[in-house]
Amino acid sequence: MVVPADRALQEAIQVAPLIFSDDVRRQKIENRLEQMRFSAATVRRIQNVFKSEMEKGIHQKISSLQMENTYIPELPNGTEEGLFLALDLGGTNFRVILLELVNGVAVREDVKKYHIDSEFRMGSGIPLFDYLAECVSDFVINEGLQDVELPLGFTFSFPMIQHSLDVGILATWTKSFNCPDIVGKDVVQLLRDALDRRGDTRVNVLAILNDTTGTLVQGATQDSNTVIGLILGTGSNACYMERADKVEHWEVERHGEREVIIDIEWGAFGDNGVLDFIKTDFDRESDANSLMVNSFTFEKYISGKYLGEVVRVILAKLTKEGLIFVNHSPGGLLTTGNLTTDLVSHIEQDSVDGDYNSTREVLAKFGIIPDDDDLSAVQYVCEVASNRAALLVSACLSMLLERIDKEEVTIAVDGSLYKHHPRLEGWMNQYISLLAPGRKFKLMNVEDGSGKGAALVAAIAQRLKKRFI
Ligand code: ADP
Ligand code: MG
Repeated sequence: MVVPADRALQEAIQVAPLIFSDDVRRQKIENRLEQMRFSAATVRRIQNVFKSEMEKGIHQKISSLQMENTYIPELPNGTEEGLFLALDLGGTNFRVILLELVNGVAVREDVKKYHIDSEFRMGSGIPLFDYLAECVSDFVINEGLQDVELPLGFTFSFPMIQHSLDVGILATWTKSFNCPDIVGKDVVQLLRDALDRRGDTRVNVLAILNDTTGTLVQGATQDSNTVIGLILGTGSNACYMERADKVEHWEVERHGEREVIIDIEWGAFGDNGVLDFIKTDFDRESDANSLMVNSFTFEKYISGKYLGEVVRVILAKLTKEGLIFVNHSPGGLLTTGNLTTDLVSHIEQDSVDGDYNSTREVLAKFGIIPDDDDLSAVQYVCEVASNRAALLVSACLSMLLERIDKEEVTIAVDGSLYKHHPRLEGWMNQYISLLAPGRKFKLMNVEDGSGKGAALVAAIAQRLKKRFI
């Protein structure tokens, strides 16, 4: 029996029908894409699986969700004062940031981007950390702060195992980095050693975190209801404030903490097969074309690095099956990696505007002069793939809201996919409302959580240090 809530959900998750001149082909395309569409029952199943994986992860049982303890037990409280440094490694640029805080508010922010050559990104890790230390010292000396003791928060957006607020063991490199001799080592210690070898500044590395945690912490300065951090950029991840008594993995002495930020690491959700019931032949192919096959399952359904590729794989299959681009060659559009997620966003703009102008523009870039059916089909595929991403993220966030069980929750969000996709935010608001009925929540844009957030975490770390020494 379909409960009324599921009926509303079922209606809300429909996408606009495909408009096509040829009924037989239209039907075939819709059938091919049926596996990308969820029933309300499937969405419920995803919610339940996520809930159960979270529960297992927090109890240290086998789960695809790491539920990492970040050892950050409190959020900014408006008393943060002074100069703080942040390093941001693992996003699009490597940056050094100086933040001056007065009453928890940033009154000055200096940022410098540094390019990291591939010779440092690949090979031995010591030259990489020597280079990072060189950038820190260049920045600090330029600011004239070489004689000032500066607390530093290190945003390190790679999978790591944290043993405390300032011990982070690199689990594996991702993105464009690969210095194998550092895997299994504490990156905080490596940075401290490199800074010591130079000995020309008084920088004190107090905390390590990732961009998701930084986003939550930065969000908390903008809205005190913020207890969830979400990234929808190249990758995807979420973190939240958990009750400390529910967290079993705690390697250092406890000091009566009431809460702690848990980094879910949801990019790997489903790596153990628990989400296989939604996997399509398109996902299998996109996975096979990726650098790390059989890992980052959830990220491959939703994040900026992969969404365009999923769309491309679908279009390539429909072309091969003689269903689209019948009269015009799709040219380079179908080459692996050529359909980037920003183009999916651009095409989706047409769903908002009710025309085909953007789709036509994107296809023109690839030298395609499409007919109306091709335009319609390309747009339809982008809509279906984007909608699935929105639904997946919403299903997980709804369970997180249930778990947190607070009257009002603000979700701090960062990442270009979320910010630039014309429909994600709207869908997410609608789906989360339906999937977590009665829960008050707000999605809030946060800028530069990986920079400002890290400086704020350094301030929190300093406060904790003073309290417990
Ligand atoms: P990062 O995740 O590397 O810190 P961003 O949050 O800026 O940086 O995310 C960059 C990713 O976002 C790109 O890899 C791309 O996949 C995606 N992206 C960039 N522009 C857009 C856009 N207009 N629409 C959707 N996704 C985009
Ligand atoms: Mg980022």
